[in-house]
Amino acid sequence: MRPSDPAPVPSLRSTPQSDDLQPAEAIHPVVAALTEAARGWRVPVVTEMARARRDPFRVLIACVLSSRTKDEVTAEAASRLFAAAAAPEAMAALGQGRIAKLVYPVGFYNTKARHLVAICRELSNRWEGRVPEEMDELLTLPGVGRKTANLVLTQGFGKPGICVDTHVHRIANRLGYVRTKTPRETEFALREKLPPEHWIVINDLLVAFGQHCCTPVSPHCSTCPVSAHCWRVGVGRSR
Ligand code: SF4
Repeated sequence: MRPSDPAPVPSLRSTPQSDDLQPAEAIHPVVAALTEAARGWRVPVVTEMARARRDPFRVLIACVLSSRTKDEVTAEAASRLFAAAAAPEAMAALGQGRIAKLVYPVGFYNTKARHLVAICRELSNRWEGRVPEEMDELLTLPGVGRKTANLVLTQGFGKPGICVDTHVHRIANRLGYVRTKTPRETEFALREKLPPEHWIVINDLLVAFGQHCCTPVSPHCSTCPVSAHCWRVGVGRSR
């Protein structure tokens, strides 16, 4: 090993050995360490927008735009769209073609533009232009799944929710905190286990952490701020 090489990371548990899971309280030091580390990371775009202006409508629209799209692209697309229309009725009136042009190049911009028109029509017709604030009601909106609904609850309304995307799902499993196959299963497992004080913050922390350190392929375990608390379940190659 050359002197400049990072120290090898001990593989505490690279494959599940049993049905063991970390206890619920094991998440406390993880949240504390990630909160400290996150000072140097960019916060996810939807959170950034919610901090600037807690507006459930903007959170909902930005969340739809953000799927499979880089944060910088989402931020610029949302900014162009809100400059053209900042309320449901006005946005629906833009029509699918105009919205698609405004939000290009977000991923699936045509499909998202169609969903945005349908969502805005629903908000205007069924909800008097406001965003509903219950999970069941949000899930009736076109193209809105649990991830978006949870983010609108937490970031738009400051209500309890656990938004589980691919980062939260992957990292909660690697830590050995849950053992689940899908983000939906992870959300329900976390609802049972995660102490309530971490519900709203867990998405922000794990998304930023997943983008900067615990990446999908070859995570940066040698410099990871929570390596001492991680079982590294299913982690093969790492840096
Ligand atoms: S980077 Fe490695 S040590 Fe850190 S949480 Fe991810 S898998 Fe665990």
